[in-house]
Amino acid sequence: MWWQIHNLEAKIKHRRTLQTCARCGFYYPKIETSCHHCFEMSDEDVLRNLAQKKYFRVGLGKSMLLGALFILLIMYLF
Ligand SMILES: [Zn+2]
Repeated sequence: MWWQIHNLEAKIKHRRTLQTCARCGFYYPKIETSCHHCFEMSDEDVLRNLAQKKYFRVGLGKSMLLGALFILLIMYLF
């Protein structure tokens, strides 16, 4: 739909004003000199946060897979 495309264009435009932080991997505006996500964190904190994020993603993937298997099982039974 046209409003979604317009929204997507706005998102892409917004994305072009951002850059990826080398330390934490989040996006921050290009006009800022330092990343506002991790500039006040030590390297240790940043690493710990990244590990937590990775762990969360793995957990989410596993639960999605279980949900898909569950739905397949229900579709097979009925
Ligand atoms: Zn950062």
